[in-house]
Amino acid sequence: MTEAKYIWMDGEYVNWHDAKTHVLSHTLHYGNGAIEGTKAYKTVDGRCAIFKLNEHTKRLINSSKMTLMDVPFSVEELNKAQVELLQKNELFEGAYIRPLVYLGYGVMGLYHKQAPVKVSIAAWEWGAYLGEEGLKKGVRVKISSMTRTPNTSGMGKAKAVANYLNSQMAKFEAVEAGYDEALLRDDQGYIAEASGACFFIVRDGVLISPPNDNSLESITQATIIDLAEDLGIEVVRRRVTREEIYIADEAFFTGTAAEVTPIKDVDARVIGSGSRGPITEKLQTAYFDAVSGKNEKYLKYLTYIN
Ligand code: PMP
Repeated sequence: MTEAKYIWMDGEYVNWHDAKTHVLSHTLHYGNGAIEGTKAYKTVDGRCAIFKLNEHTKRLINSSKMTLMDVPFSVEELNKAQVELLQKNELFEGAYIRPLVYLGYGVMGLYHKQAPVKVSIAAWEWGAYLGEEGLKKGVRVKISSMTRTPNTSGMGKAKAVANYLNSQMAKFEAVEAGYDEALLRDDQGYIAEASGACFFIVRDGVLISPPNDNSLESITQATIIDLAEDLGIEVVRRRVTREEIYIADEAFFTGTAAEVTPIKDVDARVIGSGSRGPITEKLQTAYFDAVSGKNEKYLKYLTYIN
């Protein structure tokens, strides 16, 4: 990874290599933490802006509330810290921002009420999550043998650190089998989401994405739905089964890191023409226009850092 100069830790700017925590930090043992993944883009006027900063920070606070961690900073304080961190690190070409709420040192045992709640924010330059090639040509996908942790036994709407064991197992399985990404089903067998992104298909010109019953409430999914509606594309939220994907005209992932990544095949079934479909391409262009300040209507979601 590309290192930056400073990491924000509980209100202080610490040198990148000094951003450490004790090995008895509660989260390291029991996995209760919450993260965000937020992105800043270079804008058309040569500046740099964080896209949907407030939405991401609010979700961090909400994830922490769901997993019983009382964050000692407000949304406003954390927003300001993220802007300042990018400025201090001179990340004016764009950056990935990773806020983390975790439980620090002082309490062992599962009952964590007395464990100190700590917050850190790191930012660095990070290219396309599924590769530049993936953005243009599409990626290969495997339906995972892992079930997305059902909401009867997890906090699926939280961007909880603990949820990423499920994601990691699915991702590893897919990559080792020669695929790029894993798609997880819920405990009823319907598609939930990918290991680190959400999922859309196109059938007969209609854009379909599963409801968020068993998935993260994705900020990019909401953006894509808005952009599709702006473009006059019909959008439907409904359950999707595995075999329906195989006969979709187009399929793609969305996420802050995944952006809009086309899917070229799923479990050896070629999707559509096996490359980026026309609706996927339209939405991908619209997404990059929105995050880079080219679309007036979406300027309200940009927080400029310079
Ligand atoms: N699902 C999972 C499991 C994820 O990790 C992500 C990435 N944050 C997403 C969906 C997409 O969410 P967002 O669009 O808010 O980045």
